[in-house]
Amino acid sequence: MNRIIAATLALIASLAIFQQTGLAEGDNKAPEGMTHETVVTFNAGLAAYKAEKYEEARDKFKAVCDAFPAWAPAHRMYGMALEHTGDIEGALREKLVCESMEPGKPEIMLSVATAYQAAGKFDEALEKYRKYLELYPDSKEAPAVKDSMLLIQRDLGTGKKPRSSKGKDNYIDEIASKGASRWSESQMPLSVYIKSGEGIAHYRDSFGDILKQSFAAWADASEGSISFTFTDNEKRAAIRCSWVDDPKELSNSMEGGEAIPQRNNKGEMDRTSILILTRGSSDGTEPTDAHIRQVCLHEIGHALGLCGHSSQPGDVMFAVAAAKPHDQLSERDKKTICMLYEASKGYIRRHQVKFSDPTSPEETSPRSMTIRLNSQGLKASEEHDYIKAIELFQEGLKIDPKDETLYINMGGAYAKLAQQALKKNHLVQGEKYLNWAVDCMVKGGKEKYAADFCKTLIQIAKANQDGTALEKYEKMKTEFEAVKN
Ligand SMILES: [Zn+2]
Repeated sequence: MNRIIAATLALIASLAIFQQTGLAEGDNKAPEGMTHETVVTFNAGLAAYKAEKYEEARDKFKAVCDAFPAWAPAHRMYGMALEHTGDIEGALREKLVCESMEPGKPEIMLSVATAYQAAGKFDEALEKYRKYLELYPDSKEAPAVKDSMLLIQRDLGTGKKPRSSKGKDNYIDEIASKGASRWSESQMPLSVYIKSGEGIAHYRDSFGDILKQSFAAWADASEGSISFTFTDNEKRAAIRCSWVDDPKELSNSMEGGEAIPQRNNKGEMDRTSILILTRGSSDGTEPTDAHIRQVCLHEIGHALGLCGHSSQPGDVMFAVAAAKPHDQLSERDKKTICMLYEASKGYIRRHQVKFSDPTSPEETSPRSMTIRLNSQGLKASEEHDYIKAIELFQEGLKIDPKDETLYINMGGAYAKLAQQALKKNHLVQGEKYLNWAVDCMVKGGKEKYAADFCKTLIQIAKANQDGTALEKYEKMKTEFEAVKN
């Protein structure tokens, strides 16, 4: 989920206006013709805004705009207050009024861009960000702007855009356009491991409960299709959640969290990790419980198979975290998860997730590089180029030697090579590849697959009349089968 940078910028912006007008300090004069009463109202609005009393602030700023419509700062503050009260369209309208009065001002351009983004007007947001970078390429905000653009571009993707879900009671088409996948019935209840956030900056004890409640909200919404059980066994959990304080640990610094789904060879959801950022915005402000709840709900949605995003700002699965957090699933969120889990197998097959690059080459964090190498490896596997696939997975493992997904997929590629060799009756080669496949699966925590490969190894040993090998493989098979996963 994209943390809208408005939160940070709003703060900067409010201070800028504060200093610019100096109304509170009394250094600067109020604009000519403004009555004392209006000055007092504006200051009261600023005070309310700083105290996060956004409804009150909104009303004060509106009064100032009505009394003194030609003053840009009032429209800007009115827009920001509207954003926080959840009136996204109104916020955009007021920010555009402000921009028309003060075109080209950097903080106003950004505030308009984020308002477009929050309203789901992504083309306009991109255009504005682009103009901003043209004018202010070296600004402090430039990296955040670039990350925001990458997120939008990733979401817009290429190719056919799905029909908008506006006005519908669900957004399954928008999700399915990115590929539909879900957890199988046999995996229920899904075991969930939640790592303690102790020692992570900004973490509060309430976060763990919020995360658990967010799982419960999705289970309720699914009307019985999805259930969860919480476990202390991290290695065996289907969904593993942890907390991070540093945005750099996410594949995009503008994200408020991240879900990293794995899929098994049947295309079903498998072992998935969720990361939740413990800070509210890039300047490290304390997040509210509502903000954390919004991020938790959103990332769990991804982990359940809602891979794409809703195009409508009222949904938890909208791409951008709202300034006024959606801390409850919308009716559309609920309907969509039900539809995903009730859809026919044929529907899921027709909308299988494609292994295209999920990250842009410009994203260079270790996480996005391993995700990219993994996708490229899967694509090579799809094209039956297993040698190339293994090279790509190995490259990823150089970056993160503990990445289980890479091990599992590399194990799959070795198994394919073994299959090819055995077809040609090259037993020695087949046995060697299968041993490597077993090794990878164990490192990836998939003893179940390793046990399957041992069955073939046992047959090879029998064909070779190799008693020592037979004994070894049988022992391995029993050992792997004893591990529950
Ligand atoms: Zn998302």
